[in-house]
Amino acid sequence: MRLLIVEDEVKVSQFLKKGFEEELFSVDTAEDGEQGVFMAMTEDYDVIILDLMLPKKNGVEVLKELRKENSTPVLVLTAKGQLESKVEMLNIGADDYLTKPFALAECIARVRSLLRRSKIDKPTNVLTADTLELDQIQHIVRRDGDIIDLTVKEFKLLEYLLRNKNSVLTRSAIIEHIWEITFDTGTNVLDVYMTRLRKKIDDDYDVKLIHTIRGVGYILKDDAE
Ligand code: CA
Repeated sequence: MRLLIVEDEVKVSQFLKKGFEEELFSVDTAEDGEQGVFMAMTEDYDVIILDLMLPKKNGVEVLKELRKENSTPVLVLTAKGQLESKVEMLNIGADDYLTKPFALAECIARVRSLLRRSKIDKPTNVLTADTLELDQIQHIVRRDGDIIDLTVKEFKLLEYLLRNKNSVLTRSAIIEHIWEITFDTGTNVLDVYMTRLRKKIDDDYDVKLIHTIRGVGYILKDDAE
């Protein structure tokens, strides 16, 4: 699941980022309204957490712009007294709101509930290739119906490959996405993870999904598409 946090208070956004990453979300952050609009328009997010008090463009302006062409669920963060009613929240185009200060667990629960609701009209929470299924909300991976246990990193890696099914991903793109640092792409950390992942999802099955593109990176191929 991909989450965008638009919040100028670094403390709050880093706290949320860390919390959601522990829940296996891929999290991007924007520090002002303009950057928030840009990222929401150019990337594909499953949920957006949007603070109302932001520099450059405030949260209400951001929502107005987003809602012209984007229906991604938005959870708004407000300070006490900013947003008094559900009607007000709906009027500005938000799907839910939380008043600061709030508990991380509450925020995660609200986001999950937004995801469940949006699942009804957008059944993309399960990514598939051949007989492989990855449920982005429940964090369950199956191949041929059998549950496959993956570590956090393996899960993120597989999710990233599936989201970019049938496209070659470069080593540096994968490393940056999964580890969020740009370490030397010559190290074999990525290969070690890929080997483990392949062992789990490909070794025992006839159709091999993950392929190495020598000197470039990897691709998850699904010939059915
Ligand atoms: Ca703020």
